[in-house]
Amino acid sequence: MKLFLAALGLALVIEAIPYFVFPEKMREFFRRIPEIPVNVLRIMGLAFIALGLLLVYVATAYAGNAPSIRISIKETGAPVEIEGTDLLIRELPSFEQVDLDKSDPVYRIALTPGGMKINQRTWPATHLVLASGDGVIRIDGKRFQGRVEVVKTARNHLLLINDMDLERYLVGLINHEISSAWPPEAVKAQAVAARTYAYFQKEKKLKDLYDLESSVLDQVYGGIGLEDERAAAAVRATAGEVLTYQGRIIKAVFHSCCGGRTENSEAVWGEMMPYLRSVPDPYCTESPRYYWKYEIPLSDMSRRLSLGAITKITLRNRTASGRVRELEFGFDSGQKRDYSGEDLRRLLGYDNLKSTNFRVESTVDEIKFSGSGSGHGVGMCQWGAKGMADKGFSYRQILQHFYQGVKIERKY
Ligand SMILES: [Zn+2]
Repeated sequence: MKLFLAALGLALVIEAIPYFVFPEKMREFFRRIPEIPVNVLRIMGLAFIALGLLLVYVATAYAGNAPSIRISIKETGAPVEIEGTDLLIRELPSFEQVDLDKSDPVYRIALTPGGMKINQRTWPATHLVLASGDGVIRIDGKRFQGRVEVVKTARNHLLLINDMDLERYLVGLINHEISSAWPPEAVKAQAVAARTYAYFQKEKKLKDLYDLESSVLDQVYGGIGLEDERAAAAVRATAGEVLTYQGRIIKAVFHSCCGGRTENSEAVWGEMMPYLRSVPDPYCTESPRYYWKYEIPLSDMSRRLSLGAITKITLRNRTASGRVRELEFGFDSGQKRDYSGEDLRRLLGYDNLKSTNFRVESTVDEIKFSGSGSGHGVGMCQWGAKGMADKGFSYRQILQHFYQGVKIERKY
């Protein structure tokens, strides 16, 4: 379609140019034209050239390159050290170039009451944009591609944002999320899900400074250091593909391992999303976190809840997929309080309480959790995707299993 439009536009321009440039000759050439005045021919030519150019423009705009994506790398109250070859720093919004002493490739940026200090010089700036000669910038030893912005926030912190090409971002992301050594169909499924999620966040956060966090809150991104050819191949093979539901880009969340059944979106975030339904997943049993245990001394747990010594734990209810919805804790002070499974994960650490799919037992001095799976359990199960790919399912089948009723569309 895009190619057809572009070709049609070009053909129109080429056809129309002689009418505009040599209207007399065209009048001689075609016998029926003599009745049409030269100026009208010229205007017709111009109009067709304009129409042709418009078609070419529309076609190339639709063919558009991958959009850029803005990822927050970190926010800190401490100075940051940034390294790059032939680093160029400009101030925003004026775009004025910051004069740098280039003898040292490491730039230490700190906040000052009036702006920022770069190495020994102070600038009255609150927003800097950095680009390096070879396109790579190092922060805390991690390599990032594209531009890096340093922003002074309202909380008087330095916020570092990486602004880069979305497709390149996906290549670097794969090995932070899964392993590119997994079967190619599973890696492609991950690429499409991550691209869709990034797109969804980009549309939602139009007015914000950045689109994505580089943490478990969004997708785990740590720069281009883990890029490899297998990851790049999966991204290329699915270039521009996103998941849609009734024509709209979906919130394509994913997690490590569901433990046998994924979760409904409303059970975790309260919002019902028609494509994030609980589905059975017999494919993720290979995950090292398919079964897990976590034990915590009763005294530690009491301290964390800070309502007195825990005397009783009662499971109040589970979600439709079998995950813990609410637990009631009783304390020696006589108080009782309900905690959701997600509350407890936040409180005890997501690495300790790996999912809300657990059983809980208490002994005289300990609380023992034994559970299954890792992560919130909504959307695509990454280990399940691997298991499905091992069994011969395609990335499309994998995505359509974990995201119900979706279509795979090419965005560019
Ligand atoms: Zn699973």
